[in-house]
Amino acid sequence: MTIHQVVNTIYRSCSYVLTQEHNSWVIDCGDVDKLLPYIDGKLNGVLLTHAHFDHIYGLNTLTSLFLGVPIYTNQSGLESLTNDKLNFSKYYGTPFIFDKPHLVQLIDDGKYIDLFDEIRVKAVFTPGHSNDSITWVVDDMLFTGDSYIPGVKTVTNLPHSDKLLASQSEIIIKQLAENRTIYPGHAPEQI
Ligand SMILES: [Zn+2]
Repeated sequence: MTIHQVVNTIYRSCSYVLTQEHNSWVIDCGDVDKLLPYIDGKLNGVLLTHAHFDHIYGLNTLTSLFLGVPIYTNQSGLESLTNDKLNFSKYYGTPFIFDKPHLVQLIDDGKYIDLFDEIRVKAVFTPGHSNDSITWVVDDMLFTGDSYIPGVKTVTNLPHSDKLLASQSEIIIKQLAENRTIYPGHAPEQI
């Protein structure tokens, strides 16, 4: 399996493309043109760390190019995908509403999805930054979204953030990270 990181133009949010033998998965979706060179063969699905607009704004475009691709999130994520107040895009000039909610597949905490031959991903709900936050665990990799960005204090002053839940989630993530590499939801500012 290979992994590529894409740093998006909005807030330097990060997307990731996982590929193996002409099958691909995407984690979060911002600038689609930056993702496309890395998507090899079939796009099997998109995993969302959470549905704040800087992590989802490319989804309408991506799902127009790859028809029928499932989007994995939880119930709160589905609500944010289809509500420009909940995903905050309304307040940032370009309201975004996901136009194909029928593609959303809801996943429960602790459940697995098969990614590739003998590789699966586990959804670990890590609410706090947002109520829909999911950390995705693949082998020795952790995709934490904005639930935990090493060296950066988790943002909990947003509407629907919960500071106590965020600190509980951070404990869970740090335990998971003991023998894993963290792939966070934002890249550091360039200096
Ligand atoms: Zn966020």
